[in-house]
Amino acid sequence: MRLFGEHEQIVVCTDRDSGLRAIIAVHDTTLGPGLGGIRMWTYASDEAALTDVLRLSEGMTYKNALAGLDLGGGKTVVVGDPRTDKTPEQFQALGGFIDRLGGAYLAAEDVGTTTQDAEQVRTRTRYITGLPVEQGGSGDPSPMTAWGVFCGIRAALAEAGLGATYDGVHVAVQGAGHVGAALVRHLLDAGATVTVADIHADRLEPLQELGAAVVPAEQIHQVECDVYSPCALGAVIRPETIGRLRCRVIAGAANNQLSDAAMGDELKQRGLVYAPDFAINAGGVINIGEELGGRVYDAERARQSVERIEQTLGDVFERSRREGVAPHRAAEQMARDRISAARVATATR
Ligand code: NAD
Repeated sequence: MRLFGEHEQIVVCTDRDSGLRAIIAVHDTTLGPGLGGIRMWTYASDEAALTDVLRLSEGMTYKNALAGLDLGGGKTVVVGDPRTDKTPEQFQALGGFIDRLGGAYLAAEDVGTTTQDAEQVRTRTRYITGLPVEQGGSGDPSPMTAWGVFCGIRAALAEAGLGATYDGVHVAVQGAGHVGAALVRHLLDAGATVTVADIHADRLEPLQELGAAVVPAEQIHQVECDVYSPCALGAVIRPETIGRLRCRVIAGAANNQLSDAAMGDELKQRGLVYAPDFAINAGGVINIGEELGGRVYDAERARQSVERIEQTLGDVFERSRREGVAPHRAAEQMARDRISAARVATATR
């Protein structure tokens, strides 16, 4: 098995003083530095951590390429429980490892890490993004991710023949966290009917007050609706759930919504429109792109850049139809094409 066939660098980071155990994977830097977040998770084994960082860093290559960013793909995983094992010293030590890569990898926040952790990383390296706006960074990416999903759903509605506005459209949102709650607000403002679920009731109350209906978390994927929008967990489209879907479109922020790529093919066979997760949830990385290259971050410019997601998805659906392949395959191929073209251009320069 070629575990790391296409990865450019894999760095094991062990710091005895702080107890840091982490892996940085840089997948591809053809288009630019490998951008990807730092994930802290209680991995069951070193193999599990390695597998995850390889998979996630490759995914970042496609996400950044498809979003039109001059950025490659990378990712870091830190082994440990973010609630009980985390110390500032670990993230300072991690900053040292990131710095030694000399800019091949650009870090950001991810599951299990926060702005405070990013600030600790910053004490040892400048190759960290997503710092607070007060420090010249682009801040929390979630609002832009939500805006990108809101714009991207319109492309999926058009593809499904449901029009390109939210008039009379019913969206079922799974997860009312940073992204999901912001998305629900945009949808209600645009006149959509919204049903939402979360495992934490306190996240739902403010949305109910705004007019969203609430269902138990275990029922949200089977709500009869136009759009099912996964904004919580990965692998929500799997053999046990796919037959229960009663929507026309699946379009949400969660990473890795398909338990495996064959699920995406099956959605197509069933006549459902699936907006590939790494295409529709790119608002966060597009937002980060706006603080790079010596630019002063401008929220309004970032918002306009994020709106490109609607057109990108339109292009993905068009290619999917033209080539008779499922949208997730068309999207990955579009990202690969952009990288290949850049390689050819570099080789012939
Ligand atoms: P979050 O942790 O703020 O929110 C997730 C929400 O889902 C929480 O409110 C949680 O209670 C809820 N939840 C958990 N299990 C659930 C279940 N079984 N049913 C219903 N709700 C459940 O996370 P977030 O930042 O809003 O991100 C949501 C998803 O989008 C994640 O998969 C994340 O990886 C992905 N994503 C986020 C961003 C971003 O900018 N935040 C960018 C790209 C992708």
